[in-house]
Amino acid sequence: GYRKGGYHAARPGDRFAGGRFVAQRKLGWGNFSTVWLAYDTLHSRFVALKIQKSARDYAHAALHEIELLSAVAQGDPTNSKCVVRLLDHFKHVGPNGQHVCLITEFLGDSLLRLIRYNRNKGIGLSRVKEICRSLLVGLDYLHHELGIIHTDLKPENILLVSTINPAKDPVRSGFTPILDRPVGNQYGGTVISFSEKMLKMRARRAVAKISQRRVSLGGVAAEFEKERNLDGISLKCKIVDFGNACWADQQLAGEIQTRQYRAPEVIIGSGYSYAADMWSFACITFELATGCSEDEDHLALMMETLGKMPRKISGSGTRSKDYFNRHGDLKRIRRLKFWPLDCVLVERYNFTESDAQGFADFLRPILDFTPENRPSAAQCLKHPWLN
Ligand code: ADP
Ligand code: MG
Repeated sequence: GYRKGGYHAARPGDRFAGGRFVAQRKLGWGNFSTVWLAYDTLHSRFVALKIQKSARDYAHAALHEIELLSAVAQGDPTNSKCVVRLLDHFKHVGPNGQHVCLITEFLGDSLLRLIRYNRNKGIGLSRVKEICRSLLVGLDYLHHELGIIHTDLKPENILLVSTINPAKDPVRSGFTPILDRPVGNQYGGTVISFSEKMLKMRARRAVAKISQRRVSLGGVAAEFEKERNLDGISLKCKIVDFGNACWADQQLAGEIQTRQYRAPEVIIGSGYSYAADMWSFACITFELATGCSEDEDHLALMMETLGKMPRKISGSGTRSKDYFNRHGDLKRIRRLKFWPLDCVLVERYNFTESDAQGFADFLRPILDFTPENRPSAAQCLKHPWLN
């Protein structure tokens, strides 16, 4: 988190690179960085500011990302290859250390948000195709022209191209740049008539007010949320996050990718190349087209082994409606193939009938969908299977 070696805690109005870039609001974050919308006072435009964690390994990863993104920009002068454009980079010293910062073009929401906003419908095959085309243009460029493997393709690393340009269209975006720290802030000079506490409260309120101006800045998904459809929204997208990317002939990591997008050759450690990216691409495309996430798949696997989840449980969560219809069936995954635990142990894992029986007897009550029904650790200790 926000400690020595970790994230830099920025606030709206903070200035970077000798005052040129002014932080506006946080756009997102990853394991390595926080990303802010920033205003570039030199060119009067909005940009994305990626502030890397300060510890040495993170700094090293950011310098590597700069190297790769510089090659990406150099080979694509017209910025048409569906990969994020690096505009500048510098170091910023804060209380937690020295942070490598990247300035890139400002993009819209990630495919992850798009998928979430569309849980119930999927986004339709023609839109899936549009996104596929962008991604394939980007991948073809990275693979064949540059020799780069991305190694971490997943929905949160693919961003829609902003349909709203706040610099050109401040009215529609409802956004004018913040150029100063909010009034009442503790760095704001001496204001004798206010107590210290009151000053702090005012500062907090000012910051809260600014972050509420969440406006749909490039917020394609946010716009969708309002209109409940995607008509007329360009689904061009760009590949971002080259923090783990590598030159195909200089591979560093053996274990790449995020689990649900990981290619089989990576799992078994038999070497990988561009095709590993293609695997992740296919997984993302499937997810976009079906609207089905690994969580839903996981629920399906549970029910195939343990039977249908009781309605009382399946309907009780804040996200129940994302997964279950009103009959308590999964929305997208139909025709479950029920296969009880003891049979799985015998047929798939080669247990003897009696071993399977005993073990399943022990496990089944613990795997109860109703949390209150599950035995405690003390109760489990008394089970005959252990004694
Ligand atoms: P990390 O290496 O920490 O994962 P990313 O480069 O993936 O950092 O950025 C983290 C998040 O910040 C992204 O998932 C996205 O939500 C947001 N983000 C990154 N770059 C941009 C950009 N150019 N425009 C808008 N949002 C961005
Ligand atoms: Mg990321």
